[in-house]
Amino acid sequence: VPSLRLDRLLANMGYGSRREIGLLTGAGLVVLDGAPLRDSDQRIPVTPDLAQRMLVDGEPLDPPPGVALMLHKPLGVTCSHKEAGPLVYGLLPDRWRRRDPALSTVGRLDKETSGLLLLTDDGALLHRIIAPKSNVAKRYQVTLDRPLKGNEAAILSSGTLMLEGEDKPLLPVETEIHGETRVAVTLHEGRYHQVRRMFAALGNHVVALHRDRIGGLDLPGDLDAGAYRIMGEGEIAAVF
Ligand code: URA
Repeated sequence: VPSLRLDRLLANMGYGSRREIGLLTGAGLVVLDGAPLRDSDQRIPVTPDLAQRMLVDGEPLDPPPGVALMLHKPLGVTCSHKEAGPLVYGLLPDRWRRRDPALSTVGRLDKETSGLLLLTDDGALLHRIIAPKSNVAKRYQVTLDRPLKGNEAAILSSGTLMLEGEDKPLLPVETEIHGETRVAVTLHEGRYHQVRRMFAALGNHVVALHRDRIGGLDLPGDLDAGAYRIMGEGEIAAVF
């Protein structure tokens, strides 16, 4: 188990500068297993259960590094640290935005796509989900501008569809038809704007796009647009 100086740990988790942490500990406001920690330079083993054992100013500690969140991305926010305009990171509390290592989105959804988005500060977990060979399926609910022609499922499952400007056909895509202009697609890769470009290649146009599943993990029905929650071990395992 890695250990860190208490002031470094809390500063990296966004609780303030090391000086501010020193003031908190000096005031007896950082408590571990019921006892105040008075020395901010003592080393603390960073175990996952620290969030259950430590109180900072009377509140349970945020999860230590190695955290994953699921977020219901609303329309109109961007999955980027850099771009202008509303960002998904703006949906997190300020303290979470100051964390080092920082939380990053696991892949991206377009600004005008809603649905299940994972965030993590765990590079190995990120890689396991987005590496090309990881083969974690992603399901999207699609609303189209024009009625389906009837041949879409066959073309998408064939593994022969080419996107504009690319030289490798798409991997087979599974399709569930829900109505004339409503369909779900399950992808096993993630190319740039893939769903929108796929339906453009089929002569249609996507008017609404929502991701509701990653691997075996469904977007929880009680997670409102804009809300997030910390993932448990079981939810992380469900992705794979
Ligand atoms: N495909 C898209 O076109 N957009 C997304 O946001 C995700 C998949």
